[in-house]
Amino acid sequence: MIRTVYFDNNATTQVAPEVREAIAPFFCDLYGNPSSMHAFGGQIAASIAKAREQVAAFLNCEPDEVIFTSCATESDNTALRGTADWYGRDMKVVTTAVEHPAVLQPARRLKAQGYNVVEMPVDGMGQLDLDLLRSELKGTRNALVSVMWANNETGTVFPIREVAEIAKEYGAIMHTDAVQAAGKVPLDMKQVPVDMLSISGHKFHAPKGIGVLYVRRGTKFKPFMLGGHQENGRRAGTENVPYVVGIAKACEIAAANMESEAKQLTKMRDKLQSGILAACPNVRVNGDQAHRLPNTLNVSFEYIEGEAIAYRLSDEGICISTGSACASGSLDPSHVIRAMGVPFIAIHGSIRFSLSRYNTMAEVDYVLEKLPPIIKNLRNLSPFGPDRDPTTYQ
Ligand code: PLP
Repeated sequence: MIRTVYFDNNATTQVAPEVREAIAPFFCDLYGNPSSMHAFGGQIAASIAKAREQVAAFLNCEPDEVIFTSCATESDNTALRGTADWYGRDMKVVTTAVEHPAVLQPARRLKAQGYNVVEMPVDGMGQLDLDLLRSELKGTRNALVSVMWANNETGTVFPIREVAEIAKEYGAIMHTDAVQAAGKVPLDMKQVPVDMLSISGHKFHAPKGIGVLYVRRGTKFKPFMLGGHQENGRRAGTENVPYVVGIAKACEIAAANMESEAKQLTKMRDKLQSGILAACPNVRVNGDQAHRLPNTLNVSFEYIEGEAIAYRLSDEGICISTGSACASGSLDPSHVIRAMGVPFIAIHGSIRFSLSRYNTMAEVDYVLEKLPPIIKNLRNLSPFGPDRDPTTYQ
């Protein structure tokens, strides 16, 4: 059997055994509806209340500021759509060119509907120009700033506290997609003045299909999901009780271990990075290495294609990602790598390694053994190279 080395944890993560254990009773034993009047339902409502407190402790916020959703895509859509619906068409939306599609697509829908929407560019390291943010907000009456905490492809961490402080200075609503930051860096709502924040359970060892939208007290938005009175009238639909319990447990575990895990992840990621740079020529590291998630490494191998590398690694049991849109039938390079201005010779050859607490140094060694010969072989097959420049190829 081929071993599996799973280095694709920014795509999704393994459910923690403690999380699986915590949610199990809520399928067959504790299956009541939390909205029911009977005591059987009442104990479920109490479990949700406890979960809300656990998530609030993770975010250092109040329990009534936590709304459970079906995923971060729903949280992001609710933040953008819900704020736009409340403030109306004269609201300006300021976001970045490197957001996840769960923010970019609703932002573009708002633009098509006549809202003034700006996607701010990033520099070569994937960082923002905060003066540009100030100039976009200057003179606005209503504005929504939606800037991610950390980028899913490069791991680049934005200076979110400063971004939020600037947004507040100009009276704007501040939303952040903190999906990739959750469990890797502290998310403290008392320290960082964001009004809305999205996280997703399956990125930090809870199951797929559960998210949270944090909404600071007093923040105005129109709910996206209409129906029953659940979540205080802010998100209709019977609660996904097992997964609500699951994301709360995942928050508890993440908070308890974040510091030591971040150290271990950084050690493994840095060994992987230096091993790759030592063994393979013509490689560049994408993203801001001084401000980067501890678990993420995005590298571009010049003159070859990321998809070919990913397939070859998959044959060796190694799971990684490319940033391309190949799943949608095209081989367009990632919008994030493109926005950073990575040169043509490297843009198609970018791949992402993303680690978790369940990875080991032995797995890093295994990847460092398998990857260099694959790169060498693909380079031998490539029509391009340092002496065969594809931009001048006839
Ligand atoms: N935002 C970011 C930064 C992500 O990485 C993802 C998932 O890849 C999402 C949003 C969407 O999360 P979900 O799968 O919970 O809808």
